Amino acid sequence: MTQGWGASMRRGTNLPRVGDFNQAVILDTIRRSDDGLSRVELVSATGLSAQTVTNICRRLLDLGLIAEAGKQSSGPGKPRTILRLEPSGRYAVGVHLDPAVMTFVVLDLAGQVVVRSQQPTPPVTDPDKIVVGMAEAIGALIDQSGLARERILGIGIASPGPIDSQRGEVVDPPHLVGWRNVPLRAALSEATGLPVLIDKDVTAAVVAEMWAGGPTGAGSFVFFYLGTGVGAGMAVRDSVVRGRSDNAGEIGHFVVDPDGPMCACGLRGCIGASCEPMALVREAVGLGVLESVPTDNDARAVDRWFTVLCECADSGDERAEQVLDRSAVRVAKAVSDIVNLLDLERVVFGGPFWSRLRDRYLRVIPPVLDAATTVRNVHGVDVVGTNVGEDVGAVGAACLVLDHSFSPRPSSLLIAG
Ligand SMILES: [Zn+2]
Repeated sequence: MTQGWGASMRRGTNLPRVGDFNQAVILDTIRRSDDGLSRVELVSATGLSAQTVTNICRRLLDLGLIAEAGKQSSGPGKPRTILRLEPSGRYAVGVHLDPAVMTFVVLDLAGQVVVRSQQPTPPVTDPDKIVVGMAEAIGALIDQSGLARERILGIGIASPGPIDSQRGEVVDPPHLVGWRNVPLRAALSEATGLPVLIDKDVTAAVVAEMWAGGPTGAGSFVFFYLGTGVGAGMAVRDSVVRGRSDNAGEIGHFVVDPDGPMCACGLRGCIGASCEPMALVREAVGLGVLESVPTDNDARAVDRWFTVLCECADSGDERAEQVLDRSAVRVAKAVSDIVNLLDLERVVFGGPFWSRLRDRYLRVIPPVLDAATTVRNVHGVDVVGTNVGEDVGAVGAACLVLDHSFSPRPSSLLIAG
């Protein structure tokens, strides 16, 4: 038997798929329609036979995943019954494990947040305690939602990378001190009794954009994530780029400024070392904008100082503006490399630090990117902020569960051997 990361085992989860491939295609088609579809429209949209569509729709109605939404007359024939997604059909829990804060959401089938909660990530080096805290927070959130547990498909976790997706482990993220090969998936599943999926935070952000972001989540794009660290998740032609081990998007050591600060890797001007909030706060201290540097790994202090830096820049402090404008140019350099590598049509920014940088980045980055885009005479590249909001990591984590349970996957057509 061949060892490897086969498509069917790649997700490594006990989360059940709901229905077969054709059912997934029908549900996906209904989900993506704005006003619902009739059975006749489903036949023409999917290429399936009328009998198959009728049978599958019956099953989806019985499962409570779709609902009938009135009748529509078009021409002389019998009025057609419109079918639409039933948002309350199933739910998913999303957990975003960020070095500064843990965010929890319950999402409905339409990708809308039903309830959410947030708590600081405890500054402990004992991951077991964090797992217990996570399980309690999830239990409280489900209670608060009033939902029956059987309607909840499972829990998705968005974690800083790298991850071991086969074992469900957080490997050794640079900003989570003390986390080394933590079997988070198994531990949280045992603590909650629910199936658990784990993926990288940037991958979750891409999936959130695709499921809940509207038009900006279609086609080929990079999601540039501005958190305690910076990262990139990519989608090409509506498919998430995951790489061999689900760890695609490790851009932290892209050199974006040969004169930038030294990185721990020995190079100068890596994007991580020159654009992460901690790096910008340090730069601002060096220029006298801020008074003192927070100690390493105090993510919450960095967050507070970063807010002060942005406020200084917004009120016209030239040195603060310099720091942030320079970071925008550096980010544009990394983004243009990714856009050129994969021939992308859109750059989507998001993550917990995005809203503080939005106006500046949307002003500085587009012209720099345009000048650096090799295909600019073939097609443009849009630069936008995510529509999903600050909780994109947690929403994405829950979307991983919805996506895994309901998206059509050609691999499910393969015969398992
Ligand atoms: Zn480096």
